[in-house]
Amino acid sequence: PRLSESVLPRLPPGIAVPAYDRAQVAPGIVHLGVGAFHRAHQALFIDDVLGRGETDWGIIAASLRSADTRDAIGPQDNLYTYCERNGESESLRIVGSILETLVAPEDPERLIRWLSDPRIRIVTLTVTEKGYLANLAERRLLHDHPDIRWDLAQPEAPRTIYGFLLAAIRRRRADGAMPLTLLSCDNLPANGRVLRALLLEFAERADPSLVAHIAQDIACPCAMVDRIVPATSDADRATVAARLGATDAWPVVAEPYFRWVIEDRFPHGRPKLEFSGVEFVANVEPYEHMKLRMLNGAHTAIAAIGQIAGLETVADVYGDPRARRFIDRYWREVAPTLSPETDGPGYTRGLQDRFANPALRHRTVQIASDASQKVPQRLLAPLAERMRDGQAHGAVLMALALWIRSCAARSEGGLPTVIHDPAFNAWHSPDQATLSPEAIIDAFLGFDLVFGPEWRAKPGFAAALTEAYRRISTAGALAALDQFD
Ligand code: NAD
Repeated sequence: PRLSESVLPRLPPGIAVPAYDRAQVAPGIVHLGVGAFHRAHQALFIDDVLGRGETDWGIIAASLRSADTRDAIGPQDNLYTYCERNGESESLRIVGSILETLVAPEDPERLIRWLSDPRIRIVTLTVTEKGYLANLAERRLLHDHPDIRWDLAQPEAPRTIYGFLLAAIRRRRADGAMPLTLLSCDNLPANGRVLRALLLEFAERADPSLVAHIAQDIACPCAMVDRIVPATSDADRATVAARLGATDAWPVVAEPYFRWVIEDRFPHGRPKLEFSGVEFVANVEPYEHMKLRMLNGAHTAIAAIGQIAGLETVADVYGDPRARRFIDRYWREVAPTLSPETDGPGYTRGLQDRFANPALRHRTVQIASDASQKVPQRLLAPLAERMRDGQAHGAVLMALALWIRSCAARSEGGLPTVIHDPAFNAWHSPDQATLSPEAIIDAFLGFDLVFGPEWRAKPGFAAALTEAYRRISTAGALAALDQFD
């Protein structure tokens, strides 16, 4: 059988199931971008909330692009399996907090109606970096992006987060419904402030009459999210099905570690997530920096090494002693850029174990996707601070050079590389096989979505980056890392 409400009573013992009557749950949250991460993080903690009796926080989960998640879990009464893995141990739990899954492009009005429903108080988002349609280095909306142009021309059938949010804000205001709180859970620094600034920028063009209302009444708390959730594989589906005795078209797999730190600004109420270990604080920024620079920055470096050297998973790369020493050195360089309240050394020790967890099989090609959207906040931000303060930064610089080398058409083994990065692909990337290291670095420094003009003006920067790149291309990536201890 396939996982569904009717299968729940017949699942083997030891598998947790929703501890509440799903029929009694009312919707309170709309989520935009229902991918693996949402289902292994926010939806799980909302499942806890519902189980504790706060039954008005059910989730309406929307995809703005593909129908895949709805096609998988829709026929399962929107139930799915959360599978937590550490080494040999694995625990399974059926999550029931998603009440409906919908696909916005099929019926944009349905999503606008849900967003305008007076019972909905919070909109959460995980739409990936590129879903913000922005130059993230400069926090500007990409006004010429076809989807932004579409939304300006077709406000009743939008495609972007901004078009949908604005349509709902307009309707709620006309209906006298309470203003929404918008909670970004994407890996962007100051994600709430960025979302708010970009939404205001869009509103100025699309409907200036709403600008003051958004600025005054719509809260956009910042949040730091931390849990590694790799893309689900067919092997994961098979092991979950064997344990359930039923098929689940799309379970999610995650590590036990999690952290969710949220700025406590919810003027119209919020679920009591603190009982699940979620932290509410006045200022999220120190935690965001820690997570983005330490975990995500190291991930981007590891993903690049994986693409260049043909290593499939994070644990494969981190298992190489040269890569491990390099990453440890990277952390030692970055940790001093963090605020002391975040316990950089303790976080580093945790990361060493998390990256070595072989059970996750987190694939480097997944992390390498959209890297051009990630490099500014993950690598360039700490690099700029280390350079400004005259501190050692060889490992962060090397991470940047590794990313550039990983964008070449072939790996060291001569295999074609696959780069899922629309912004990068649209840019005229240099042919790294035929150009000198100087010419390659010169071309990359002209890639405006990543490098602002300040990077081209930094004395000695291009030469140092060229040198790091040259070392990778002559010695090979792993051998080039041997200099770090
Ligand atoms: P995923 O590939 O499973 O899902 C991505 C979701 O984003 C899908 O719903 C997709 O439709 C949507 N999306 C992609 N491009 C979009 C666009 N241009 N406009 C609107 N929606 C778009 O990925 P995931 O693992 O769920 O991760 C999603 C995001 O969550 C990440 O980009 C990151 O910001 C955040 N996050 C993920 C993890 C993790 O370990 N997976 C950890 C922390 C934070």
